[in-house]
Parts: sequence; C-alpha cells; structure tokens
Amino acid sequence: MFNKILIANRGEIAVRVIRACKELGIQTVAVYSEADRDALHVRLADQAVCIGSAPSTESYLNIPHILMSALMTGAEAIHPGYGYLSERSSFVKACEMHGIKFIGPSAEAVAKMGDKVQARAIAESAGAPVLPGTRTAIRSEEEALQHARAIGFPLLIKAAAGGGGRGIRIVYSEDSLLPSLRIAQSEAQSAFGSPDVYLEKYIPEPRHIEVQVLADEHGTVLHLYERECSLQTPRHQKMIEEAPAPNLRPEVRKALGETAVKIARAVGYVNAGTIEFLMDNEQNFYFIEMNTRLQVEHPVTEAITGIDIVQWQIRIASGERLPYQQTDIPIQGHSIEARLTASIPEHDFTPSTGRISQWIPPGGPGVRVDSHLYAGYSVPPYYDPLLAKVIVHAPTREGAINRLHRALGETAIEGVQTDREFLMRLIDTPEFRAGQVSTPFVPRMLKGALALGGERP
Ligand code: ADP
Ligand code: ADP
Ligand code: MG
Repeated sequence: MFNKILIANRGEIAVRVIRACKELGIQTVAVYSEADRDALHVRLADQAVCIGSAPSTESYLNIPHILMSALMTGAEAIHPGYGYLSERSSFVKACEMHGIKFIGPSAEAVAKMGDKVQARAIAESAGAPVLPGTRTAIRSEEEALQHARAIGFPLLIKAAAGGGGRGIRIVYSEDSLLPSLRIAQSEAQSAFGSPDVYLEKYIPEPRHIEVQVLADEHGTVLHLYERECSLQTPRHQKMIEEAPAPNLRPEVRKALGETAVKIARAVGYVNAGTIEFLMDNEQNFYFIEMNTRLQVEHPVTEAITGIDIVQWQIRIASGERLPYQQTDIPIQGHSIEARLTASIPEHDFTPSTGRISQWIPPGGPGVRVDSHLYAGYSVPPYYDPLLAKVIVHAPTREGAINRLHRALGETAIEGVQTDREFLMRLIDTPEFRAGQVSTPFVPRMLKGALALGGERP
C-alpha cells in the first residue's frame, strides 16, 4: 500500500479522497490555487502545496507544478478526482515517466475512451448496441451530408473530445447541417483542443442510464449495477442521480451489467470507470461514452452495494485483488443523490458566489453529505458551482425520496443562492415519484415555471 498520496483536485471530491486515504492509514498531500488557501481540503490534508494562481489553467491543470509537488513531498501516487486532469492521457503518461502511480486506468485506456468516436467503435466491437452515427470523425462536408441523410434528422453533432455536457449540438434539418458543423468544429477546437466531431442519431426522450465498473490488475472485472441520471439541466449537467434505476426490467439490468463488463474488458480497463448508455421507452439501450474516472455520483452506488469505490481505486492501484465475485454483490435498498449547487435554476443556472454565513447540513438516519463547505467559507467564482452532495439511502425508493425531501428541507445555507428549493420541487413531482422521467423533464419544468411567472408548473 502507498504511504503518501497527492490529490490533484479541489472541492468536495478532494475532501472525499482525503477521507478514504485517512481510513486506509495513508498520508495526504493537497494542492491548491491562490483562491483556495482557506479551502477545506487544504485543512484536512497532512501537507498542502500552492500550485498557482486562481484560474484552473494556472493551478489545477498545471501539470509541471503538480508533478513537482508530488516529487517534492514524496507522494507515491496521485488521485486525480473527476474533471481537471482525470481524463488526460498525457498526464497519466507524465506520472508514469516520473515513477508516480496514477490512480486510474492506463494512459492507453484513457486515450482510447477519451476519443468518443473511437470509444463507439470499441463498444460496437465488444458487442454493445451503439446509436447510428459516423464511425470516424467528419472529414468533409460531403461526407457529413451523406451520413446525415442516412441517420435522419434531428441528429446531434458531438465533439469527439467533449465532456461535462459540453460540445453537443442538435441539428433539426439539412439546411442547418453545414453551418452548425463549422461552428461545432471551431468550438471543439477552442474548448477541447481538437476540431474532431461526429454525428449521432438523436433520441427524443431518452433516459440516461450508466453502469459503474471496477476492475483490478489481475483480470477481475465487476459491475456495480446502474445509476439513473436523467434529471439534467438544459446543458446536460446532472442534477439528481439514483441507484438502482427505477422500473427497469430485470433482464435489461442484467444485460446492461454484462455489456458494461464486456466493454471494460475490450479496452483492458483497470480501476473504476463508468459506461454511459441512453435508453428509449422500450428499454433498448445504446452505448454513448465511457468516463475513465471516478464519477460525481459514485456515492449512490456505494450506498446500494456497500463497496467504498474510492478506497478500492486506491487498493487496486496498489496492486490489490478485488475480493468479490459478481454474485457476491446484491443490490441493497435504494439511494438518491441531489447536487446542491451555487446556481439559480430559474435564471438559466447562473452561478452565484459569496461568503457562506450559515451552513447546517442535514443528518439523521440514511443521510450522507459530501461537501467542502463550512460557515465563513467564501465560494470562489473560478470553479464548478457544486457545493454539496446530499445522498440518502433507504430500503425502498419511496422511502429514499421522502428521506431526501426531509434532508433538503432541513439543509440551511445562507450567503449564496442555491438550487435547493428547485431540487425539492423536482423530487416531489408525480413523474419523478413514479420513476418516469427522461432527459427533457427539467428543461420542460423550467419552461413551465417561466411561463407561469416562476410558479410551480
Ligand atoms: P459525472 O459524469 O461524474 O457526473 P460531470 O459530467 O458532471 O461528471 O463532470 C464532472 C466534472 O468534470 C464537472 O465539473 C465537469 O464540468 C467536469 N468535466 C468533465 N469532463 C470534462 C471535460 N472534458 N472538459 C471540461 N470539464 C469536464
Ligand atoms: P458528455 O461527454 O458531455 O457527458 P454524453 O455523450 O455523455 O456527453 O452526453 C451527455 C448528455 O447529452 C446525455 O446524458 C444526454 O442527456 C444527452 N445526449 C447525448 N447524446 C444524445 C443522443 N444521441 N440523443 C439524445 N440525447 C443525447
Ligand atoms: Mg457523459
């Protein structure tokens, strides 16, 4: 096992990883930007190194400074969290070159799955259903037209290197294809450093269902069941996630898990990863992408399986074997997570910043809060608006919904505006209670609210 790990991240996920390290008896090194001097992850770690100024490009994405910090402090491994450097194969390689263990998959697996076009091809060759679309990045306008006609409209133009809900553009008809293509390519170049885009069939009312996988270096690949993440903002940011997915036919659940394991095996995947699918209303599912990292919503899976995914990421990276077989992992109860963010849903999710004057997190049976907040903390304007994840676990889905409603109700936060009340309304809708929501649900609810002058639709 490692003696010391550097956490190349900030916010709630840095705190989450530090907690796992402490429970494993591992020393921790935090890195921080000048804007994060007073951040909780800095306080909780055994050591902390300032790696640059506030903008992420100068600090949390500053590979030389992060590597230097690891070498200086004698950290043997780096946990990247999510976002930032977690899916940069060049960073994985740089770690390897300096004899530092990257807590995640190989550089090769990150590179292969990070290219969403290549990932589709790998999934297809592993026998997974994939949405109709282009098999290579679009090279010419003629090619785009030809493929678009075969796929049909509406369709999506997606950036091959996209992520975080960015780099996705819908095209309703042939006249707007080429202008949209040009914009998409130049946006992809500036946002992701690659102009590559591909076309994919648009599913009108999909559910987003993803499968957590965990694989060790000795050939064991397990799935930890699915999560439903269909409640998303109009910009495809997840708001509420749950495990297991409601109303899923048992044979579909089984096929999802088996397909995810096959895809992970096809890339020689090691460590924790997530295979994302879209599902139509007949419960046919289609691979869309793989996230080769820890995911924001991993706690709901931890709740229903009893497996500490972050601890296992570290154990796997240190060479340990997974001590489970698939049949050792039953689903226990139901878990839901709500992302409390400093944003105003009714105003297009405009981020809010400020000093937290009051923070009383919820508690009681079956409630977990993953957060970096404390009273007196100032939310900096430079980073993700996520403030806290409120995660509940209960024997039944209805019990979990009631518990989440209760937990969000007792959460007191002052000093910044949040989506807390909107989340409470969301989980109280008859559609969510019935487990019948798809990705357009939140955008529609917001439109309804606006049409009614901000009232509940
Ligand atoms: P999850 O699938 O784990 O819920 P998200 O898509 O919400 O992850 O992304 C987690 C974090 O990582 C967010 O802060 C998101 O903005 C960021 N992120 C993920 N992928 C990228 C990317 N390719 N480029 C920039 N940010 C990204
Ligand atoms: P990212 O890499 O940004 O996470 P994804 O490919 O995972 O991008 O897609 C993010 C979200 O965009 C999905 O959860 C879904 O809401 C929507 N989406 C993506 N592809 C499609 C599609 N083919 N049809 C309909 N919606 C889609
Ligand atoms: Mg995705």
